[in-house]
Amino acid sequence: MALRHNGKTAIVTGASSGIGRATAKRLAADGANVVVADIDENGGQETVQQIESKGGEAIFVEVDVTDEWDVEAMVETARETYGGLDIAHNNAGIEGTNDPLTEQSLEEWQQVLDINLTGVWLAMKHELPVLTEGDGGAIVNTSSIAGLAADGSAPYTASKHGVVGLTKAAAVRYADEGVRVNAVCPGVVRTPMVERSLEEHPDAVEAMTDDQPLGRMAEPEEIAETVAWLASDESSFVNGHALPVEGGKLA
Ligand code: NAD
Repeated sequence: MALRHNGKTAIVTGASSGIGRATAKRLAADGANVVVADIDENGGQETVQQIESKGGEAIFVEVDVTDEWDVEAMVETARETYGGLDIAHNNAGIEGTNDPLTEQSLEEWQQVLDINLTGVWLAMKHELPVLTEGDGGAIVNTSSIAGLAADGSAPYTASKHGVVGLTKAAAVRYADEGVRVNAVCPGVVRTPMVERSLEEHPDAVEAMTDDQPLGRMAEPEEIAETVAWLASDESSFVNGHALPVEGGKLA
């Protein structure tokens, strides 16, 4: 049976760790050539190695998603190395601090918004022309349940709500050019992002799972599976959605 993403080219930002790494590995296992994009070179090279050790194809590009020149170079790498672009998973993000809104600095607010929201906009700005010049394709942006309801800090929640709006705007505008744009909204996922906050507050694991019907966190692979589906022809009529993958917490 043909692999679901055979011969396609994918960009995954934030692919040096957590959800991005799991998605890069999932897409590569499904046959895609993957541009592993991240600000962290060591983690990115490790992702490439893990893909290559399973017979997959990947290349690392060092990119700060807030830097337009870097983002342009990332998309150009996909075009030059693999001849185009079919899938983009715009996923790089940071959690920021959990301080109350009134105690946050303007710099903290701007950093979270720059990476989590402007970074997704910049990526789409440069990915869409390449996606539309080929046979179209699919974009999956990483939002969060914090993109659907208040969860975490004010800047984080605002940035993730922004990703949902940006996703819808692009989905409506580019549908007739053959590009579907959706967002994935994970609940709590066991990644280095969450492990960092558990180091600071070890008892928080219960608070994170108490109101969780499945009684546990997600594994990054469970989010990657959803992204790979949203990026595939199997979801060909799903467009402009913010899909919660949160084990029923919002239910
Ligand atoms: P992670 O910290 O494991 O991975 C985030 C990656 O983004 C890292 O590799 C980091 O180097 C990269 N990154 C950070 N700033 C960057 C920049 N300026 N340019 C390029 N790369 C940059 O975290 P994760 O949990 O895998 O998070 C991935 C995405 O999922 C984030 O957008 C996050 O907000 C979102 N998310 C995570 C959870 C969760 O519970 N882990 C839940 C909902 C949404």
